[in-house]
Amino acid sequence: MQNPTLRSRALALLKKFYGYNGFRPGQLEIIESVASGRDAVVLMPTGGGKSLCYQIPALLAESGVAVVVSPLIALMQDQTTALQANGIPAAAIHSNQDESYNRSVLEAVAAGRIRLLYVSPERLLLMLPEWQRARISLFAIDEAHCISQWGHDFRPDYTALSRIKEVRPDVPVVALTATADRLTRDDIASRLGLRDPFCWLGSFDRPNISLRAYPNPGIRDRVRFLRDMVRKYPQDSGIAYSLSRAGAEKMNEHMLKAGIRSVCYHAGMSPAERERSMKAFLNGTAQVCSATVAFGMGIDKSNIRWVVHNNMPGNIESYYQEIGRAGRDGLPAEAVLFYSYGDVMTLRSFAEESGRPAVNREKLERMQAYAEARVCRRRILLNYFSEERDCDCGNCDICARPPERFDGTVTAQKALSAVMRTGSRIGIYTLVGILRGIPRADLRREGFDRIKTFGAGADMSQNEWTDYITQMIQLGLFEIAYDDGNRLLVTEQGLRVLRGQAAIELARHVAPDYGAGTSRKSRKESGPVAETDPVKQLFEQLKTVRTDLSRTEGVPPYVIFSDASLMDMATRRPATIEDFLEVNGVGEKKAVRYGKRFIAAIRKFEGLSASPGSGTSLKETLILFNAGIPLGEIAAVKKVKLSTIQNHIAELIDKDMITTYGSFVSRSQCERVRSVFDTTPDEAYAILGAEMDQGTLAMVRAVLRAQDRRKNT
Ligand code: ADP
Ligand code: ZN
Repeated sequence: MQNPTLRSRALALLKKFYGYNGFRPGQLEIIESVASGRDAVVLMPTGGGKSLCYQIPALLAESGVAVVVSPLIALMQDQTTALQANGIPAAAIHSNQDESYNRSVLEAVAAGRIRLLYVSPERLLLMLPEWQRARISLFAIDEAHCISQWGHDFRPDYTALSRIKEVRPDVPVVALTATADRLTRDDIASRLGLRDPFCWLGSFDRPNISLRAYPNPGIRDRVRFLRDMVRKYPQDSGIAYSLSRAGAEKMNEHMLKAGIRSVCYHAGMSPAERERSMKAFLNGTAQVCSATVAFGMGIDKSNIRWVVHNNMPGNIESYYQEIGRAGRDGLPAEAVLFYSYGDVMTLRSFAEESGRPAVNREKLERMQAYAEARVCRRRILLNYFSEERDCDCGNCDICARPPERFDGTVTAQKALSAVMRTGSRIGIYTLVGILRGIPRADLRREGFDRIKTFGAGADMSQNEWTDYITQMIQLGLFEIAYDDGNRLLVTEQGLRVLRGQAAIELARHVAPDYGAGTSRKSRKESGPVAETDPVKQLFEQLKTVRTDLSRTEGVPPYVIFSDASLMDMATRRPATIEDFLEVNGVGEKKAVRYGKRFIAAIRKFEGLSASPGSGTSLKETLILFNAGIPLGEIAAVKKVKLSTIQNHIAELIDKDMITTYGSFVSRSQCERVRSVFDTTPDEAYAILGAEMDQGTLAMVRAVLRAQDRRKNT
């Protein structure tokens, strides 16, 4: 189904409102499908560009409002701010606004003034009956996996969304999610009652995010690592996720002590405190957010360069979604996972208490396999989302340093034997203590210091042993009795190895080098050296302009322009508003609003005077006019007289390039000029000069000529 006019209209809207030159894979197909009234299920990774898949159809519709269901108020606000910044009438209804405001939003919707309306699931259901006959262009269900029991983030209030199709079978529904395995995907479509939906399964690959994982680093290593990340990316920000609120707070304290500008965010804080943290993070006052998973859904901050997980998350969907917040501008970013058996045990008990133990246990095991991987990590992730890869990614720690293998039979036997000799009563921590022969009171109390294997592995470090035991678990030599104090149990296969009936290979442990940012050498390299690349120099200056604007307007910097847009700007160095519109991410609204400031900064950088040459081009006037800018403002932006712009408009009307006039001439003006239409312009001005200026007169005369042209055809 290809519709060339629809396609070109969609492309024009993309350019006009968003300033982008082309669609990403899938967007156009989805837009076409929704615009033609078909339901859709859209799976795209975080940052893939899902929002456009319903926003453009909303703009393509002749009339009516697109209703977008979203689970979080913060997310609704972000989206409406971003849309409004691009000149698109959008609003949200939610419980953080007072009801009179909500009512006025509804009135604006009823009057057809709003194209996109964000609501929570409960609100939608309250409104649905009233909306039997309302003009609705489409329903979009964001974070659609929340409707499925199989998803990792099931929300009971989403289940009621199945009523949408009952009440409004005539309106297309598009369900969007960044995270769903195959089971969840099918479940979404059936629960929403979608009919023959168009399904888009976008690639989950985010090749710009490098992947790493480290087992069991101590707190000092963790803090040092985070400090190095901050140093490595001094202009950008990062997120440090912890499993618990207490963990997030601790980490935050550690970071503050280490001189890192960090804030904390979790659901146990008051809304005002959370708001403050969020603001500080978004506007860059804070460089790091130490958070629980409560933070981040829907955050569209383009310069998050890294995400560090202080603990392992409970499933791959969550993990992938959380790391997906980094590098949304497509530039290189880093995802680092710290994990331990302590995490696994905590998560294990969460799973048991979750009400869906079987599903969650399975999901946890897949996550653990990722953490402990000895093969390309990206392959594991993509496999999970049914996207099989037949080659390694080259951008993960495993690809960078493929493990060296050795005959690990003797090593394994030492560990297996120690467990057997304790009567299978011990967990990993105790086992390592025994093998290393540590004179610890707890070991002596149990008499473990007297068993034969005590100290049999004293030549290896704590980390080495933990690594090898982990591998033995993966290889199926040990099992963990999660339901019984996390004891290690020797399996049949383990017994065979112990008896010398089977041999095994282990991947040689390498002491973790915590990070590209931490080696002495790179630390020196990443220090504050004077930037010599002119593009980067200009980029930094443009960032300052953005910071100033963000302060005066009270919006986060990325709402103004993303880093990627500033980089493009620094490369192109636009000199006029027209050139400025060519910059990726610059739509008409933003061109008018910010163009002057950035162009001036570029000129200053180039050593020219800050005032750009006055724009006289007709096309530029047309662009600005189409963006809905009043003529007086156009004149101010272009630094020309109002009459010049008015003459442009007259010329554009004569060329039929402007065909709606309501915003600059009135009916009564037309009637007055019509009465003296036979005269020359000068004579007309002599008669009407007291009522209108020459520029207005020129425009009105052009309008009358256009009307006559139309009458004659
Ligand atoms: P998602 O909702 O899938 O996480 P978004 O819709 O927020 O992702 O898009 C992520 C970023 O990519 C946004 O900054 C958006 O403006 C940008 N983007 C989306 N589509 C395009 C496109 N066709 N060209 C350039 N940038 C795009
Ligand atoms: Zn890899």
